[in-house]
Amino acid sequence: MFFHVKNNLFNFFKEVNVMYKIDPELCTACGSCKEECPEDAIVEGDDFYTITDKCVDCGSCVEVCPVDAISEG
Ligand code: SF4
Ligand code: SF4
Repeated sequence: MFFHVKNNLFNFFKEVNVMYKIDPELCTACGSCKEECPEDAIVEGDDFYTITDKCVDCGSCVEVCPVDAISEG
């Protein structure tokens, strides 16, 4: 029971912790953000990249995106 509650709390904070996202309309799939990410939290797609729950909210990817496709929230 304790571990069940603990896991639920962990997942809750993990989900809340994911703050950065990539706008698929703006992303040109250049790959700069993925190269910059220290946690390998960004995955490549055909038309745009996506930030996964491995993100630790460091903000490094935001600075390198040439089209400002990455934002908090
Ligand atoms: S905020 Fe940091 S950890 Fe998260 S995706 Fe961007 S570079 Fe990776
Ligand atoms: S740096 Fe910006 S444009 Fe390039 S893949 Fe990442 S989000 Fe897309």
